[in-house]
Amino acid sequence: MKKAVPKKSNHKILDSTSNVPTDTSAGQSVMENSAGTEADSKIIVPLNSIDRNSLSASIESMIHLSRDIIVVLGKNQVIQTLNPAACQALGIGREKAEGKNWFDHFVTRSMRTSARKSFQDLFSGKRDSMGYLVIPIVNKMGEEKLIEWEGIALKDGGGTPEAVLLSGRDITQQKRIEKELIQSEWDMALAQKIARLGGWVYNMANDEIRMSDEMVHIFGTSLQASPVPYKVFLKLIHPDDRQRVAASHEESLRTGKGHKVEYRVLLTDGTERTVYEESKIFLDDLDNPLKVRGIVQDISERKKVQDRLMHAEKLSSIGKLSASIAHEINNPLFGIRNVLERTRMCVPLKEADERFIDMAISETDRIAKLTRRLNNFFSPTREHKEPLQINRILEEITLLIHKELEDRKIKLQARYAEVLPEVMAVPDQIKQVALNLVQNAMEAIPESGGEIILTTFHQDSYLYFSVADNGTGMTEDTRKNIFEPFFTTKSKNEGTGLGLWVTNGIVQSHGGGIEVHSECGNGTTFTVSLPMV
Ligand code: ADP
Ligand code: MG
Repeated sequence: MKKAVPKKSNHKILDSTSNVPTDTSAGQSVMENSAGTEADSKIIVPLNSIDRNSLSASIESMIHLSRDIIVVLGKNQVIQTLNPAACQALGIGREKAEGKNWFDHFVTRSMRTSARKSFQDLFSGKRDSMGYLVIPIVNKMGEEKLIEWEGIALKDGGGTPEAVLLSGRDITQQKRIEKELIQSEWDMALAQKIARLGGWVYNMANDEIRMSDEMVHIFGTSLQASPVPYKVFLKLIHPDDRQRVAASHEESLRTGKGHKVEYRVLLTDGTERTVYEESKIFLDDLDNPLKVRGIVQDISERKKVQDRLMHAEKLSSIGKLSASIAHEINNPLFGIRNVLERTRMCVPLKEADERFIDMAISETDRIAKLTRRLNNFFSPTREHKEPLQINRILEEITLLIHKELEDRKIKLQARYAEVLPEVMAVPDQIKQVALNLVQNAMEAIPESGGEIILTTFHQDSYLYFSVADNGTGMTEDTRKNIFEPFFTTKSKNEGTGLGLWVTNGIVQSHGGGIEVHSECGNGTTFTVSLPMV
């Protein structure tokens, strides 16, 4: 790469772009060519070939025309002369400025001491030049300007400093732009943070990708914003989505068109985030891909809300559906109940069979109530609470599922507390809770069979009943989601994913709670607590 021309030079050259020769300590003149490099652009001109008078006249007119501020100060710190650019910056005419103490009149108060010191250093011969210093000045209109100064001592024939020549460039505007730029960069970073928007640049030449700070943050990686090999970047993507994203990247490079893709990233702590990515391909002169730029937005929250909305929509359609189903069920149910009632009254039955008929009648009543509840799927049921014996409810359920347990080779153990206080609860709802839990327990037990233990007990002001099985158990991930509506690990025909959601709702509305203990491969225990008051 070509070496750039240095912006500033500490040689005693008036201006690197002016092509005006000046003395060097070697007694030669140097001309610098602004287009060339430092080494090849210095043309050494023997000093004796230039007419001194014409040289000093040229320098004087250069000073006069210079856009830089040029001020010559005498030993007493007073302005001896200044150029039009200086007059303009100071807002003062030449005659008025000459003879004024430079520091007292034009240097910002807070900088006077240090500015005077630099001046003294030049006069005392301690230094030949000030080196570039930024010293603000205040002009006659009271405006402060940031000036970058260089100063040199002007010496007499014997080498004694006689005056100081200050050359300054107004950098107020430049500094303001720099400040604004920093501010806008900062604003941009903040905006990206708020929008959870990151960016990346992929460099074809070295197969590396550079990620912005916010992207590094979204991806939860310890990789800093330095470029990383593309392979390393791919590893941050969720394994299930990785191939799809890589294929999409390849396809977009092949077609030269950017891509839009949604994928998940897997953070080191196991958290998943969903991001939306859009990219654009930059081509070289021969239309070959050179770079790819992409933006990545964290849409995890939006996704969650969308999912919830979808659930809500599903629920609402279920609500409508269940209302029509409930209507359809009620009519035949009424018929069945009538037949049962008639059988009970008109047909002579054994006592045990009478009990079965009674149970069938009360179960049809329960179905009728359930269908009514299906009708009001969303509105909380305001069914009547009454004193309830949990042991009795569990016994009734056991009778109902008796046959199914036998078919599934499941042994049922009842460990009920002998004395159990009553709870105030809606009987059908508690039956539904127990039935859902037992149903899940049965479904978790493999075909070879197993065991379910029903337990009741009370402690402090709570009554507990638990359903334990020695079935499949659950993974940690499943356990976290079981109370979510529509969460199911069963096939479409077997599970709705609503059982535990409804169960939880009922228990909550009774002021109780559900605890789950489950180990993968070692069975599950659900314990329901209900307040006794
Ligand atoms: P469904 O039974 O229709 O799937 P549920 O809400 O009743 O819906 O249960 C949600 C999920 O919880 C089940 O799909 C299953 O993965 C898990 N689960 C519930 N009970 C048990 C249990 N006793 N053993 C193992 N997993 C269970
Ligand atoms: Mg279920």
